[in-house]
Amino acid sequence: MLSDVCPLCGSKCNIERAQNYTDYSFIKCEKKNCYPIKVHNSINNAEKKEVRKRYNLIYEFLLTHKAVELNGAPQYFHFFFDPDYAEDYTKPPVFINIADYINTYPNNISEKLDRILANLSIKYPNIGDEFFFYNMPISLMFIESGDASGEMPALVKYLTDLDYIETNKNIRFPVIVNGAEITRIEKLFVISAKGWQRISEFRQDNRKNKNVFVAMSFAERNLPVRKAIKQGIIDAGFSPSVMDEMIHNKQIVPEMFRLIKECRLLVMDITEPNYGAYMEAGYAMGLSKEIIVSCREEIYHKKDYKDALEEKAFKPHFDIAQKQVLVWKDPADLTKKLSEWIKYLFS
Ligand SMILES: [Zn+2]
Repeated sequence: MLSDVCPLCGSKCNIERAQNYTDYSFIKCEKKNCYPIKVHNSINNAEKKEVRKRYNLIYEFLLTHKAVELNGAPQYFHFFFDPDYAEDYTKPPVFINIADYINTYPNNISEKLDRILANLSIKYPNIGDEFFFYNMPISLMFIESGDASGEMPALVKYLTDLDYIETNKNIRFPVIVNGAEITRIEKLFVISAKGWQRISEFRQDNRKNKNVFVAMSFAERNLPVRKAIKQGIIDAGFSPSVMDEMIHNKQIVPEMFRLIKECRLLVMDITEPNYGAYMEAGYAMGLSKEIIVSCREEIYHKKDYKDALEEKAFKPHFDIAQKQVLVWKDPADLTKKLSEWIKYLFS
């Protein structure tokens, strides 16, 4: 699948083997405003259209996420695709599993046009910012076929027909075709007033928000629970944000607040005591977010604490705003119940 064409923008790129993680390819695009990324073979291991979808999600991820810094240096994101991923604490927090996002892929043309418009508004954030579609990154446009020449004009036409974008100017610039310089004329577009209105509706349209924030203990023995929660969220057609997967140093508190602010639902597991999780849930509650509280059955019913001190330290607080608690037997049970609960809440 990988060639010397950048899978994000369609320009020429260089592909090297990544130095530290040799099962990753380092895609360095020639275009200045494109993103250098590291990509695991698993991303490319699917049929063509599916692979295009993954890169489209990668591009959207890059547009909407700031690069993580480690010791002052920005880190490249490492993208992989593994629906059965068991988290690995030895890896730095820049590994992004696109399998967690695939359920959020726009599955009809109107959703796709909304998402393209949202991408354009991030790339051209000011009212009156002009752009043209010649050389527009194929992933920004959610193009799924290898050949943009058919899909791109159709999408531009739809966006124009809906009055989301408008044009009343042309731009001329020289391009080299087969060694000869020719003048190209392209229409210059701006996002229209209606387009900006649509973007603001879209951002407020909670029904399209698929983000679920997971608040819980990050202790290693808790990994099967995290995995079960993530799977339950994915099975329900949502996408989980688990904080320390992205970043787990202290500078990321603002990032955590942003993720909670932007989530549709927070899932909190209280089987293991964790103050951070209660704090996160409290913040989400203040923002009137939906919250699901879950707990393992034996802990939920546990009565035989050694003394009051132990009980205080380890007994989960069930009185979180009188929330009903999702009580689960084992990770498989948790996945199933959580997915059903989320579907029930949002259907
Ligand atoms: Zn590129």
